[in-house]
Amino acid sequence: MKKRVVLLLLLLALSLAGCNLLPDASMQDRTVSDASIWAMDTQMDLRLYGDTDGTVMAELTAILNRLDHSLSATSPDSALTALNESGRTDDADVVYLASAAQTISAQTDGALDITLLPVSRLWGFGTDSYAVPEPAALDALRDRVGMDKLTVSDGAVSVSAGTMLDFGALAKGYAADLCRAKMEEAGIAGILSLGGNIQTVGTKPDGSDWIIGVQDPDDMGRYLLTLRLSGSASAVASGDYQRFFMQDGVRYCHILDPKTLSPVRGSLRSVTVVTDGGLKADGLSTALFVLGREAGIALWQSMGDFEAVWIEADGTVWITPGLKDRVVEGSYQVIEP
Ligand code: AMP
Ligand code: MG
Repeated sequence: MKKRVVLLLLLLALSLAGCNLLPDASMQDRTVSDASIWAMDTQMDLRLYGDTDGTVMAELTAILNRLDHSLSATSPDSALTALNESGRTDDADVVYLASAAQTISAQTDGALDITLLPVSRLWGFGTDSYAVPEPAALDALRDRVGMDKLTVSDGAVSVSAGTMLDFGALAKGYAADLCRAKMEEAGIAGILSLGGNIQTVGTKPDGSDWIIGVQDPDDMGRYLLTLRLSGSASAVASGDYQRFFMQDGVRYCHILDPKTLSPVRGSLRSVTVVTDGGLKADGLSTALFVLGREAGIALWQSMGDFEAVWIEADGTVWITPGLKDRVVEGSYQVIEP
């Protein structure tokens, strides 16, 4: 199942000035341009304000297409494949992402682990045939997996023999950060929906907030919660409904627990992280989905620099207190600080 747009922009006119690096909203060109592309195995929808001659849209598309290629674990001639085959690369994007992954992995007790590619493939993700593997087949992969199998030094990434990296948990967030930087440099506001990742940049010309929706895991056309965001922000969802297979009535999703080498199975359906960077939001949402709600709340309490929405299997929506004043619509419970 292809990963689809997880969070949707609704164009509601609500007022609030955002703090950002862009010109005052009232001064902006009101031209709206939209583009949709397919990259990183998902649909990407871009909306820009004031990109009159299409230059910025062309630059963003070029960034997304470049990363689609260089960070692909399946393209035979990508920078990532070169690393996975030769054990070393000095490709700047790969080095940056590997280093960021080490940081987030350390922050999340190893819940984020970018060495799980052989394990994902054994379960059938990224191949044509899903299957629950034999425990012995999973155990046989243990020597190839673990964040201790990769080293970042002297501007290069090296991995142990047999270890393969996968940036599926981070690449779209990183892409959003690069696009945002390009838009801020050009003074262009907009909203990017890169699969499950939303990036807002600057303030709309009418000064109203950005409105995003947190998808119902049981009905991707519905939103359990809509939130108002101002200025530049990243909102990223990870869940068990985006890519999965069913066997004997059990749902096996694409996010794996590095401790069990198996798809995460718990009471959570999704976690959405709202914070000030795409890569950070992407890495944390995947890790928080692995950790489950209780450990995720403990992480939120200790880090204190992101907001989150947890959706439970029984439909309960939990939000961090910082999001309370941002809710436009939806029922929720607030996490105790
Ligand atoms: P996301 O949709 O951002 O939560 O990322 C999920 C993708 O990251 C999966 O499709 C895998 O490619 C990869 N992945 C799965 N489990 C993990 C994990 N525990 N840590 C890092 N990447 C993972
Ligand atoms: Mg992620």
